[in-house]
Amino acid sequence: MHELTLLFGVAEQVGRVVRENDIDHVDAVVLEVGEATMVVPEFLLDGYEVISDEYDFLRGSELIVNTVKAIGRCRNCGTEFAIVENEGYCPRCRSFDKVVIDGTDFVIKEVRILEDES
Ligand SMILES: [Zn+2]
Repeated sequence: MHELTLLFGVAEQVGRVVRENDIDHVDAVVLEVGEATMVVPEFLLDGYEVISDEYDFLRGSELIVNTVKAIGRCRNCGTEFAIVENEGYCPRCRSFDKVVIDGTDFVIKEVRILEDES
């Protein structure tokens, strides 16, 4: 499953943050996932339940997935539009020929740590 591979990558990156900042546990990981990545947020959340249990620094933490709309620019008339809502077709000229200009990223937006032991 593609989502699991991505999550292992996330765990690795968060692990680096954890080591660099000398912390031992995170409370939440916030991901920004573009619609054009074809990643299914529910699969990420399900997979996270499994994966977070394998890393001490992730155990019991929460995964927050923010989806970013896939935006395309029509190659025919230059209109920018939400790809999913329009099923891939330009709402103005009905062309399917477009460049995807947003919604292609999969990034760790934030690693949240609650400071509870000050
Ligand atoms: Zn168009």
